[in-house]
Amino acid sequence: MQIKKLSLLLLVSISFLLYTPALSMPMNAGSGPSYLVQPGDSLSSIASRFGLTLQELMDANPTIDPNTLAIGDQVLIPGLEGIEGLLITDSVQFGDSLTSLSRRNQIQPEYLIKLNHITSPSELFAGLGVVLPQKENFKPLSNRLAFPSDSSLLEAAVLNETTVYDILSINQLGGSWQALPSDVLYDDKVNEDNPQSALPFSLEKLIISPLPMTQGGTVKIFVQPKGDAAISGMLVDKPLHFFPDGTGQLVAIQGVHAMLNTGPYPLRIVSTRSDGTIEAFEQMVIVQSGNYPADPILNVDPATIDPAATEPEIELINGLVSKITDQKLWSGLFLSPSYFNDCFTSRYGNRRTYVGIGTDRSFDSFHSGLDFCGGTGLPITAPADGVIVFSGPLTVRGNATIIDHGWGIFSGIWHQDSTVVTTGQTVKQGELIGYVGGTGRVTGAHLHWEIWANGVQVNPMEWLENQYP
Ligand SMILES: [Zn+2]
Repeated sequence: MQIKKLSLLLLVSISFLLYTPALSMPMNAGSGPSYLVQPGDSLSSIASRFGLTLQELMDANPTIDPNTLAIGDQVLIPGLEGIEGLLITDSVQFGDSLTSLSRRNQIQPEYLIKLNHITSPSELFAGLGVVLPQKENFKPLSNRLAFPSDSSLLEAAVLNETTVYDILSINQLGGSWQALPSDVLYDDKVNEDNPQSALPFSLEKLIISPLPMTQGGTVKIFVQPKGDAAISGMLVDKPLHFFPDGTGQLVAIQGVHAMLNTGPYPLRIVSTRSDGTIEAFEQMVIVQSGNYPADPILNVDPATIDPAATEPEIELINGLVSKITDQKLWSGLFLSPSYFNDCFTSRYGNRRTYVGIGTDRSFDSFHSGLDFCGGTGLPITAPADGVIVFSGPLTVRGNATIIDHGWGIFSGIWHQDSTVVTTGQTVKQGELIGYVGGTGRVTGAHLHWEIWANGVQVNPMEWLENQYP
C-alpha cells in the first residue's frame, strides 16, 4: 500500500517534472513580440512589414494557418530580440519625431528603428503607419513638461512638481545638459486631453483631417495658436489660407492635386507673435493613392486639345479661382446641381488621354469633376450659396459658370446649353443657374461639375457627403 502510494507520487512527480516546464512557460516567452492582425493584413504582408520571408514567419507560427488568419489574431514576430509585448500600429501625428515617439511609448529609439525599418529619423512622416510595442497595462505618456526657455532643468522640475532624476530617467537622458527647453519632455502623469503632445510650443492644437491625405481629396487643417500668434502655412506648393471657424481656432481648407505622386510632401506651419517672434515648423505628410481608374482613350475635336486654346483658358480660370474671398458664403453640405442628383456617367479622378481626331496630338490629364446623367435642357442649380464670378462661352469647357463660395472654394459648371446668371450676381443654394448642354470638349451632352479648393480641383463627392470645415 505504502509502496503503491509512493510510486503513484513518484509517477505524479515525474509527470510534473516532464510537463510542468512546457505548461507553465507562457506562450512565445523570450522569443519575441506578437503582432496584432489588422484589417487587410495577410501573413505575407506581415512578413514583408517586418523584413521576413513568409517561410520564416510560418516557421515561427506553426499553429497558424495562412488561409484562416483573422483580424485580432496574434502572430509571433521572430528576430526582434529585446522587444516584448503586443505590436500595434498607430499613425504618426504632426509634430512627432523619433525622440517624442520613443519617450511617449517608453521604448528605446533603436527598437523603433528596427521595428519600422527606419533608415533616417527624418522619415517619420505625419500619417505614416508606425508599429509600436504595447506593454501590458501601459498607457503612452501624454503630459508634456513645461520648460520655459530661460529656465534650467532644475527650475523646470520644480515648476512641474517632479524631480530632475525622474525627468532624466523617463526621457532617456544621460544628464541634464541633454535636455533643452525646445525638447519634448514628459512626466509620468497621463493627460488624455492632449493627444498631440509633441507639437511645437507655439501651437495649442493642430489637426490634419484626414490623415493620411489622398490624391484629389480635400484636407482640413485646424490650428489653435498659443496666445495672439498669427498663423500661415504651406502644403506641398500651395500657401494655406487660415480663417477663424467661430470656435476659437483657425482652419484652412486645401485641395490635394489628383495627379500628385503618392508619398511624403511638406506641410509648413509658421506662427508669428505680435512681438515679431516667429516659429516655423515643417514635417512631411503622406499622400496616398486615390485609386483612380484609367478611362479608354477619348477622341475629341482637335481644336479642344490645342494648347493655343487650352492654355489661355486654364490661365483665365486659375486667375478667377485664386482670388480668395475672406467671407465664407456657404453653410453645411453642398447639394447636387443636377436634376438626376445621384446618377453619374463619369466620376472624378479618372486618368484620361485625349486624342485629336485626324491628328497625332494627345493630351494626358485626369477627370477634374463629376459628370451627371441626363442630357440637353435639364435644369442646373447652384450647389451652394455664392457669387457668380464668370458666366460665358469657353473653347474646352463650353458655356461655363464659376461660383465663388468664399474661403477659396469655387464651383465650375461646364458644357451648358445656356446660362441664366451674370457675373457679379449672388446665388442661393438650389437656385436655377443654367441648362445642360453639349458645348465645348465633350462626347455628348452632360452636366460636369467641379470644385476648386484653394487652387486645386478636388473630388466633389466629398463635398456632397461631408461638411466643410
Ligand atoms: Zn466631366
